[in-house]
Amino acid sequence: MPNFSLETEIFIAEFDAAIEAHMMLTRRILRCAVLRESPGDDVLSPMAHTLCSFGRWFTSNVPYFEMVDTEATQRIVLIHQFMHDSSRSICNNVMDGRAGNNIDLDNFEKSQSELLILLAKLKTLVLSHAVRHDPLTGLPLRYGIENDFALAHKDALRNNFLLYAAMIDVDHFKLVNDQYGHPVGDIVLRHLASSLKLLIRGNDPLYRFGGEEFLWLLRCRSPDEAAQSAHRAITTIEKTPIPIGDDQSLFITITIGLAQIGENEGINEAIIRADTALYKGKHAGRNQYVIS
Ligand code: GH3
Ligand code: MG
Ligand code: MG
Repeated sequence: MPNFSLETEIFIAEFDAAIEAHMMLTRRILRCAVLRESPGDDVLSPMAHTLCSFGRWFTSNVPYFEMVDTEATQRIVLIHQFMHDSSRSICNNVMDGRAGNNIDLDNFEKSQSELLILLAKLKTLVLSHAVRHDPLTGLPLRYGIENDFALAHKDALRNNFLLYAAMIDVDHFKLVNDQYGHPVGDIVLRHLASSLKLLIRGNDPLYRFGGEEFLWLLRCRSPDEAAQSAHRAITTIEKTPIPIGDDQSLFITITIGLAQIGENEGINEAIIRADTALYKGKHAGRNQYVIS
C-alpha cells in the first residue's frame, strides 16, 4: 500500500466528497418526479453546473486535472454541464405538470454513468501521479526513470543528441538544516528544484533522486555544450538568493557529476559513473562539475 502524502489524502477525500455530493442530485430528481417537490433553485438554475459543490470544486482544480489528463478533464466539464441541463429539463417538466420526456432521461442517465467512469479514471491517474511525484518539490521521483530513459535514449540516438546523466547534490546541506532548521531546509530544496527547472531545457527530465540529490537527463549536441550547461547551472545557483522568510535569504552551492550515456549503456550504469564524478567534485572542493 503506497504511502500518500497528507496533501494527497486530503485531496482524495475532497474528490470523494464532491462525487458523493453530486450523487445527491439523483435523489433530488427522484423526489421531484415522485413527490412533485422542487429540487431546489440551484438545480433549476441555468447555471446549475457552476452552483453545485462538485462543479465548484472541479473547476477550481481544472489546471491540476488537465496536467494529469487533459482530454478526460475537458470531457468531464462538458458532461457535467450536460447532466445538469438534462436534470433541469426533467424537473422543469415535472414542476410544470407535464410528462417528462425520454430524451432528457436518457441524457441524464448516460451522462451520469459517463461522468462516474471518467471520474474513476481520473482518480486513478491522480493517485498514480501522486506516488510518482515528490510532494515537496513537485518533481518526478526516480520510479518511472527507466521508461523515461528508454524514450530519451532512443530520441537522442535518432536525433543525434548526446545524453548525459547529471547527478546534482547540494553542498553541505546538513549545515542548512542544522543552522536554520528542517523546515527552512525544505524551503531551500523547493526553491532549488524550481530554479533548476527554469535553468534546464524544457524537455530535459529532472528528478528528485533522493534527499538533496537531483538527477538531470541532459540532452546536448556536444561535450562542450554539456560542460557549458553544467557550468551555467552551478554559477546561477551560487548567485541566486533563496528567500527564507523574515526578509532573510541564503545562498547555496551545488556539485554536479556528469556521465555521457553510451549507446548501449543502461541508466543504472550511467548513474553509477555520474555518482563517482560527483564524489570527485565533492573531494575537489565542491561548487563545481566533473565529467566522468
Ligand atoms: P555534501 O556537501 O558532502 O553533500 O554534504 P551534505 O551535508 O549535503 O551531505 P549529507 O549527506 O551529510 O547531508 C544531507 C542532508 O540532507 C541530511 C538530511 O537530513 C538532509 N535532507 C535529506 N532530505 C531532506 C529533506 O527533504 N528536507 C530537509 N530539510 N533535509 C533533507
Ligand atoms: Mg547527498
Ligand atoms: Mg549534499
